[in-house]
This record gives sequence, C-alpha cells and structure tokens, in this order.
Amino acid sequence: MNYEAFFKRQLDELRREGRYRVFADLERRAGDFPQALHRGQRGSGPVTVWCSNDYLGMGQHPTVVGAMHDALARCGAGAGGTRNISGTNHAHVLLEEELADLHGKEAALLFTSGYVSNWASLSTLASRMPGCVVLSDELNHASMIEGIRHSRAETVIFRHNDPDDLNAKLGAINPYRPKLVAFESVYSMDGDVAPIAAICDVAERHGAMTYLDEVHAVGLYGPRGGGIAEREGLAHRLTLIEGTLAKGFGVIGGYVAGSAALCDFIRSYASGFIFTTALPPHVAAGALASVRHLKTSQVERERHQDRVRTLRRRLDEAGIPHMPNPSHIVPVMVGDPVLCKDISDILMSRFGIYIQPINYPTVPRGTERLRITPSPLHTDDDIDHLVDALATVWAEMQAEARAA
Ligand code: PLP
Repeated sequence: MNYEAFFKRQLDELRREGRYRVFADLERRAGDFPQALHRGQRGSGPVTVWCSNDYLGMGQHPTVVGAMHDALARCGAGAGGTRNISGTNHAHVLLEEELADLHGKEAALLFTSGYVSNWASLSTLASRMPGCVVLSDELNHASMIEGIRHSRAETVIFRHNDPDDLNAKLGAINPYRPKLVAFESVYSMDGDVAPIAAICDVAERHGAMTYLDEVHAVGLYGPRGGGIAEREGLAHRLTLIEGTLAKGFGVIGGYVAGSAALCDFIRSYASGFIFTTALPPHVAAGALASVRHLKTSQVERERHQDRVRTLRRRLDEAGIPHMPNPSHIVPVMVGDPVLCKDISDILMSRFGIYIQPINYPTVPRGTERLRITPSPLHTDDDIDHLVDALATVWAEMQAEARAA
C-alpha cells in the first residue's frame, strides 16, 4: 500500500466536501479576553473571539491565574506520576472534595479531561456490570458514545430528549438486567436542555441508573454553578454527574461525582483513570480556585445571561436567523459547509471577528452553522460590531445568490 497517497486521498476527500478543518492560530491575551492575536497567512492581527468554550472567561480570572502561579512555584510543573504512584497532590484531593460538594454527592473523581472522564467512566460501568444495557440519547457527545462502544454492552438509542421513547425502550428490557441511562443537560450544538426530571422519573420507574453529562452547564447554571440539575433541584436524583473543568471553569480536566462506592469503583477499575499521569498540581489548583469562586459569585453568571439576551435581541433586530433555545449557545444556521467556511473567513479577514465554522461530523450534514458563545466579557460595542458584520455578510451573500 502507498500509505502517503492513501492519507492524501482521504484529506482531499474532506476538502472536496468542504469540511477540511483549518485551525485558527491564536494567542489569547490574558486580561484582554475575548481579544486574541491571530497569526494568519497575511500577517498577525487582533481578533475578537466569539466561539470560545471558556464561557465565563475564567481562564484569565486573577484568582485562578494567581492560584496557578502560586502552585507552579510551590509544586513545580508536573504531577510526577499516576494518581496511584506518587501523582496525587493535595490540590487533587481538595478539588475532588470541592466537586463532590458542588453536586451534593459523597465523592468525586478527577480525570485529565471531560472526554476521558466520559470514556473511562461509561466504559467501566457498562462493561463491569454483568448484563448491563445502556440507554443512550441519540445526540450524546462522541466521548460518551466511544465509552459506551468500548464497553461492548448492549446499547439502545432513545430519541433525543424524549422520556416517552425512553420509557418504551426501558419497558422492553428484562427488568432484572442492570440499566444505565446516559444523557446530557445542555446539548452543545443546538443549545437545547434535557427534561432531566422526566428522564429521572422514567429511569426510577424502571430501576435504571442515571448518568448526566453537565459539561456545558457547570459553572454557568445553578446558584453555585452546579449545573442544570442543581438549578432545578434534581442533583440528588442522578446517580452520577459528569463535568469538565475546561469550559465554564476555564482551565482543563474532567470529573465524575456520585456515591463514595461508585467513585471508588471507577477509581479502582477504570483504565483511563489508573494508567495515566495525574493533572499537574497547578492545573488542579487553578480549577479549585475557579470552582470555589463560582460557588459564591453570581456576577459572571448574571452578566453572561445578559450578554446572551442582548446578542439574541440584536440578531433579531438585524434579521439574522438563529436557533431559539433556552441556553447560552447561539447557533446561526448556514446549512452549507463551503458557505459556512466562507462566512467565517470573511468575518476574520474583513472584520477581525473569529467564529469557527461547525461542520459534519460535529453536526449533521446540511445543518452547518456558526456557533456563537457570548461571554460576560463581550461589550455592547463587541456585540454591535458582530451584528453589523453579520448583517453586511448576509446581505452580500443574498445579493450573490440572487445574481447567480
Ligand atoms: N461532553 C460534552 C457534551 C462535550 O461537548 C465535550 C467537549 O466539548 C466533552 C464532554 C469533553 O470535555 P473536554 O473538552 O473537557 O474534554
């Protein structure tokens, strides 16, 4: 086989479909978010970032950055080992206690990312419980799907956010088998929110465990940033809550929170927890500072919601179509991969606005979009500039379509 030719052919195929991924080369400027320096082919220039998952800008918060500096100076660069072999630093222990408390659970367990926490926890639970059946929402994230697949457990997909379909599918399963219902609270691409209470009702009726991914909600929702389940007073009904430290909390890392026995079980059996070096102590210290801060401060959450409302209102006034949803994610639908990339390029080159185009397989073909994520740090001027730029590009595209 000509390996090089094979790789190039595959990449050409992605280019032909218009979904070859080009990364924006950025240097974020701490203290100046959402501004960044973009290094493009025609030189460097400032851009306003409108698609970051550092939803609250905690990555530049002085308390977080200060805690990281202190821990780096005190503990050095890396953890020095896996959690089992010399890598457990006191910051890990404190962070796990803080996360357990955030979700009202007995325990929590840290992973190197949210992806790894889903993959390792779901694959361990589903493979280790004899005869387990996983009920998985059809729009679950790739990390959950991969974890479930790796478990080789029988999997039943239920219709997105549909407790009735879940009920019917659970009803068809032998009641004596262990069952695990896996779903998300805020779905990252459409920004819709799961009917958590109704899903818990159904799961409880059938004696199923519940696994909720709150990656796009922790830090952002709930009086202490415990996510949608906390906001709705439902955290106690979920067997396990999974989250990330990389989005609302602005650092990196993932975790699960649940009963002491459940977390100990995953700690003791999950390959993705056991056989990898622990998060660096300064990362854990930064995440700890962020979680603690957002447990008491409402300023970031309130301003965040205000920015989301303002952007939506301004888009409506300008006639820019965006998907309605009850969350902070503002998808502006384009519906074509090439056009989506073109609009993104124009926004960057002419207006200094960075919004990454979202294409298949992240979203279904034909639903390509610009996924806009306003943060508390975007000013009214930033919003005006974005909406004016989008309105200009939209009008130009419509004129071109009419002329063609
Ligand atoms: N779960 C969901 C729903 C996600 O969207 C993502 C990433 O975007 C993850 C898990 C993975 O989290 P992390 O970025 O911390 O690996």
